Amino acid sequence: MPPSLLITGAAGYIGSHCVEALIRQASAYGLQGVQLHLLDDLSTGHREFLEKLCALAESHRLPRPVIHEVSLTDRPALEQALKQARPEAVLHFAALISVAESVQQPDRYVRNNVEGSQNLFRAMQKSGCQRLVFSSTAAVYGNPAGAHLPLPESTPVGPVNPYGETKLAMENAIAEAAREWGLHSVIFRYFNAAGASSSGLFGEWHEPETHLIPLLLRAAARGEKLKVFGSDYDTRDGTCVRDYIHVEDLACAHLLGLKALRAFESQGAAAQVFNLGTARGTSVLEVIRAAEAVLKKDLGRGVGYDIHPRRPGDSAVLVADSARAREILGWEPVHSSMENILRTAWEWERR
Ligand code: UDP
Repeated sequence: MPPSLLITGAAGYIGSHCVEALIRQASAYGLQGVQLHLLDDLSTGHREFLEKLCALAESHRLPRPVIHEVSLTDRPALEQALKQARPEAVLHFAALISVAESVQQPDRYVRNNVEGSQNLFRAMQKSGCQRLVFSSTAAVYGNPAGAHLPLPESTPVGPVNPYGETKLAMENAIAEAAREWGLHSVIFRYFNAAGASSSGLFGEWHEPETHLIPLLLRAAARGEKLKVFGSDYDTRDGTCVRDYIHVEDLACAHLLGLKALRAFESQGAAAQVFNLGTARGTSVLEVIRAAEAVLKKDLGRGVGYDIHPRRPGDSAVLVADSARAREILGWEPVHSSMENILRTAWEWERR
C-alpha cells in the first residue's frame, strides 16, 4: 500500500510550500505514490493553493490529493477525516499566527490553536496514527534575557505574547500525548519564515498581512512608507533583530523530519525539538537596506520608512542555533540568503 499523509493548514503559507516539496521530492524520500490528504478550514488559507497542489500532484503521477475542508474545532469532522485518511503521519501547520492579533484576541487563539490541536491529537490517537511533525515557533522563547545568542533548543522558554503561549501549550500537549499513548513527534521551532517558492506557484499571502517583508515590498512598490515598530531596542541599530529563514529551507526540514521520525521511534516517544534558522540576525533597518539593493533595478528609488512606537508582544532579538538540526537531520539552509529571500518574495509580490 502506498503511504498516506495528512497535512493540516495545507492551504497556508508554510503548509503549501511543504506540500509542494513533498510532491516534487516524494520518490527521493521513499514516498512513491503517496496519497496526500490536505486539511484546511480556509479561514486564512487559500483554495487556489489547494487547487494548484492537486494539479501539481497529478502532474507528478501521484494520486489526486483528497481535500478536507474541516476546522480543527470540529471534532467529529476531524475524526472522520483521520479515519478516512489513515495517515502514516500528520504534518500539523494549521494555526492562527499573528502576534498582534493574538494580543487583541487571546481567547480565539486558545480555542483555535490549543483546543484545535488537542482535538487533532485525540483524532490521531483514535485512528491509530502515532507520528507527528509539528510547526512551532521561536516565539516560545520570548525575550530570553541573559541567554547566549544564537539560541539553542535548551534555552528556557517564556513566551511574551499569546501567540507564543498557545504554541508552547501545543508543545506541552504533544509531550502529554507522548507519555499517555506513545505519540512520536518532531517539533520544529521556526524563526522568521520568509521568501517564496522558486516555482512561482506559492508565496506569502496573509490577510491582513502583518509580516515585515511583504509589507516592506508592498510599501516600496506603492511609494509608501513602511512603519518600523520601535527604534529603541537594545540592538546594534535599535530595531528588532530576527533570523529570516527561507520557506523552501523549512520545507526541506519537514521532509528530513518525516524520514527521521521512523528512526526516532526506537529511541522512545519523547518529542524531538529542533530550531530552524540560520544563526544570522538581521535588524529591521538592515532588511530595508537589503531590499533597496534588490529593488533598485525595478523601482529606481529607495524604500521609505517612519519610526513608530514598539509593537506589543515583540521580542528584541531572536536568532537560532540550528546545530541540532544540522547534526541529527542533516539539514542545511541553502536558500536563506537575505538576497534570495527578498528576490523570491518580490517576484511573488509582483504576480
Ligand atoms: N515589523 C515592522 N514593521 C512592520 C512589520 C513588522 O517594523 O510593518 C517588525 C516587527 O516589529 C518585528 C520584525 O519586523 O521586529 C519582524 O516582524 P514579523 O511580524 O515579520 O515577524 P515576527 O518576528 O513578529 O514573527
